[in-house]
Amino acid sequence: MPQLIFPFVELDIKYFDLGLPHRDATDDKVTIESAEATLKYNVAIKCATITLDEAHVKEFGLKSMWKSPNGTIRNILNGTVFREPIICKNVPRLIPEGKEETKELEVFNFTGSGGVALSMYNTDESIYAFGDASMNTAYQKKWPLYLSTKNTILKKYDGRHNFLMLLFKDIFQEVYETKWKSKFEAAGIWYEHRLIDDMVAYALKSDGGYVWACKNYDGDVQSDFLAQGIVFIIFFIINLFGFLRRSSGFSLTSYKVCPDGKTIEAEAAHGTVTRHYRVHQKGGETSTNSIASIFAWSRGLAHRAKLDDNARLLDFTEKLEAACVGTVESGKMTKDLALIIHGSKITRDHYLNTEEFIDAVAEDLKARLSC
Ligand code: NAP
Ligand code: MG
Repeated sequence: MPQLIFPFVELDIKYFDLGLPHRDATDDKVTIESAEATLKYNVAIKCATITLDEAHVKEFGLKSMWKSPNGTIRNILNGTVFREPIICKNVPRLIPEGKEETKELEVFNFTGSGGVALSMYNTDESIYAFGDASMNTAYQKKWPLYLSTKNTILKKYDGRHNFLMLLFKDIFQEVYETKWKSKFEAAGIWYEHRLIDDMVAYALKSDGGYVWACKNYDGDVQSDFLAQGIVFIIFFIINLFGFLRRSSGFSLTSYKVCPDGKTIEAEAAHGTVTRHYRVHQKGGETSTNSIASIFAWSRGLAHRAKLDDNARLLDFTEKLEAACVGTVESGKMTKDLALIIHGSKITRDHYLNTEEFIDAVAEDLKARLSC
């Protein structure tokens, strides 16, 4: 992707190599340093990183099974993750229109030898930060805000049934009333808590234009619904289904916003795409969609532009994003998008390979910059 940024923008970038060998060589200190630098400079653009399992430790001969870099960084930044779809008009939405059939799946059946369970936690501090980041984003966008929880079932966790725990619903209400209510009302927007069941039904029917604060688990499920197997812990979804209903087609951009409202880390909402990388390593052709990564750069640089009051940089980032969408809408796209359009009837001339796609975006960008 260097041909989309470096010929056009002069940048003083601090690099932190979060590749496995360097994380191992520095006893993972580089991950911590990168997060500290993010707080210092206020803008970071992060590539997907490998979260280790035992097999990796063996394969790469690592000193230790280092912690998830995303977890380490998230804890240092105390950020809230936002996701936003990237829309191309010619790529149809993925969620088919509601068939009213019921599917029953067995989730667990603990017989004999037992099983396994999962527990979750949130600190009050992180819930306050989540509330503030959500309200701040809703206010910036001038969209209403909904927080969804399963407060009817997860009583201990979601509602105030334990006087020691100020919980999601209560904390959001407190943040709203003490800091945001009058601003929201002046802007003609509102904050509401909704039961997750109601919220999902509403999201599928609505035309969008709202901010949806999802707790970790719900956000993860909702975003995967759209992002097909993209694994990332999410606290927050912006306008996901609504946009899809209206104009369809997407890829996801993801960014973490810190409680200071000033520091962000942008990244693509997908992983390192290992399967494609293996093909590439063997000299094979890949058709990997780079739009989410390009948007990580454009969103990061746009934030830099806002902090520095740099109108030319902002203009560049807008043109870069327009070039991505314009390229796809002109029919030039990678295989994942072509598959959504053509399904099983897909042929090789429906899509470009990775390099051809980036070249096509570069060409479109140059045309936009010269006019
Ligand atoms: P992944 O890299 O997102 O890839 C999963 C599958 O999704 C790919 O095999 C591909 O499907 C499709 N896909 C994802 N991104 C695509 C793109 N840009 N263009 C086209 N297709 C795309 O997830 P993963 O395979 O579960 O994880 C791989 C590695 O990434 C792991 O080491 C994981 O720890 C790491 N990871 C990091 C982050 C992060 O740092 N934020 C997030 C998630 C995963 P097809 O193979 O069917 O084409
Ligand atoms: Mg997930």
